[in-house]
Amino acid sequence: MNYLVSISGGKDSTATLLHALDTVPFDSIKGVFADTGNEHESTYQYVDYLEQQTGVKIHHVKADFSDRWQHRIEYVRDKWAGKGVPAEIIESVLIVLEMGATGNPFLDLCILKGRFPSRMAQFCTQELKVIPCTEYLLELVDEFGIVESWQGVRAEESPNRAKLPERENKGGGYLIYRPIHKWNVEQVFAIHKKHGVEPNPLYKLGMNRVGCMPCINCAKGELLEISKRFPEHVERIYEWEKMVSAAARQQNATFFAVDGGDNDTAFQRGNIRQKVEWSKTLHGGKKMDLFSVFEESAACSSAYGLCE
Ligand code: SF4
Repeated sequence: MNYLVSISGGKDSTATLLHALDTVPFDSIKGVFADTGNEHESTYQYVDYLEQQTGVKIHHVKADFSDRWQHRIEYVRDKWAGKGVPAEIIESVLIVLEMGATGNPFLDLCILKGRFPSRMAQFCTQELKVIPCTEYLLELVDEFGIVESWQGVRAEESPNRAKLPERENKGGGYLIYRPIHKWNVEQVFAIHKKHGVEPNPLYKLGMNRVGCMPCINCAKGELLEISKRFPEHVERIYEWEKMVSAAARQQNATFFAVDGGDNDTAFQRGNIRQKVEWSKTLHGGKKMDLFSVFEESAACSSAYGLCE
């Protein structure tokens, strides 16, 4: 049997990899990391660090949407006029599409769809992570016969994750195992400590989760933290918003959708710079939260007590 651990660069997938080292033969373990193109540079470095620390080869996969490009151009060119889209918008969208795919999976997917993903239409996970990782797993099934996909999902993270079974048999030699499903966060950090492996440094910089930088689901406080610590990522997304808007029928694509944002009813559609301004406000979105704005980002502000 071979084991393929999905690595995100976060604490749970790292714990899963370390648990594999404790429980199955070393030579049967492989890792896979899906590069969305919207990762923080620390995450790339961390995945390399994990490979060095554990000796497990972590294969990088990256979605490629260039084969969908021509179809999108033809669809916009041949069908949009019949749907009442003004000629100047069709022209603007075709200019962007005819420049070709950028090679960045996250950006290309959004250009093709003419929008960013949202909590209600979270196509990013499937297209950028699930499909590329599954394709790689199926290649391994072809080579080795049976492969078990190890996923670092924990029940206490959300009601939906709690419902997931610990084991699944997808057929054809494709098995799924979620070995840390019942673990709590203390167990997750304990196995890091046991193996002398540091968690991703982003946890010490105020990030609750390690995923995209930023994730479309990031909370208000996390967005404020990102804007203070990594303003270059806010500006990158601002540029992406311009490119995706130019490729969109409505010509107005924002990274954060109306359905996002911490249950704060004042969270309306706006570009990422406007969202950063909103992130500085108290609940309700109007009054400025002066304490958060002027507070220096502490050197270490982990939500998991990693600073202690
Ligand atoms: S981390 Fe967030 S933005 Fe990135 S793929 Fe997952 S849901 Fe989408």
